[in-house]
Amino acid sequence: MLDAPLVLKSIDNQQSLIKIGENCVIGGKEIVMIAGPCAVESAAQMHTVTERLSVCGVQAIRGGVFKPRTSPYAFQGMAEEGIEILRSIERQFRLPTVTEVMSAEQLALLSPHVSMLQVGSRNMQNFELLKLLGKTDKPILLKRGLAATIEELIMAAEYICAHGNNQVVLCERGIRSFDTYTRNVLDLGAVVALKQMTHLPVIVDPSHAAGKRELVADLARGAIACGADGLIIECHPEPEKSVSDARQALSLNDMEKLMVSLGPIARAVGRTMPQAVQAPQLSIVPIRPLVTSK
Ligand code: PEP
Ligand code: MN
Repeated sequence: MLDAPLVLKSIDNQQSLIKIGENCVIGGKEIVMIAGPCAVESAAQMHTVTERLSVCGVQAIRGGVFKPRTSPYAFQGMAEEGIEILRSIERQFRLPTVTEVMSAEQLALLSPHVSMLQVGSRNMQNFELLKLLGKTDKPILLKRGLAATIEELIMAAEYICAHGNNQVVLCERGIRSFDTYTRNVLDLGAVVALKQMTHLPVIVDPSHAAGKRELVADLARGAIACGADGLIIECHPEPEKSVSDARQALSLNDMEKLMVSLGPIARAVGRTMPQAVQAPQLSIVPIRPLVTSK
């Protein structure tokens, strides 16, 4: 038996609800959709993304400002300038933002301005970071490590809870395997197991699992069918121009279509999708026929 008393269920059907921002709750009947670009690239990009996503029901916006890149020469994120953009998005659209934190220094910069902090795959077992996050009052999105077992993910979550913060959401984002056709292997078995074992909400990131945009929507639907509480998906106004993870980014149109297609799947497993916000109806003034005198 795992020594994770704070994360494992103590009674059947125990389910934590984690609130992000003012109105978004993860773990309830309604599926939570988090979407946005891999990286914050400009204020205009974030504005375009948020404007479109907010009307189709997306409840939180993602965007990295500190990017963990394989190459030290690749774009590392907009840092402080990006934080300012996230802050203005939260204020203007009244939507929570989610962004990755990799160090104590970044934590101090991000904490006052964003609604949810993401621990990336590469840092799932950065125990000193997990302890620090345990001392914050922010909800944490904890992504599964590239090659972490389900038990290791649970224990990483236990670290955060044990240090005082029980607002943890788990995220399955694919694990490494021998097959390089997909970027990672989406482990839906882990989603089912985590939902059975823990009371924490579990969401799925099909974007980093697939690595190819044409696979993302089907994996997203599969994740909801398997009981995920939500999804985090990368999308971009001009996907092929994304500065990072371009190959897996959905267009905003595809994101909108995906939202609609998830409705019947969610209903089939007793969940609901967030309502699309109707664009204000233009009042149509009847046009009087032009009477021309001859
Ligand atoms: C990301 O969300 O952009 C990211 C880097 O994810 P992961 O840590 O799962 O690779
Ligand atoms: Mn990414």
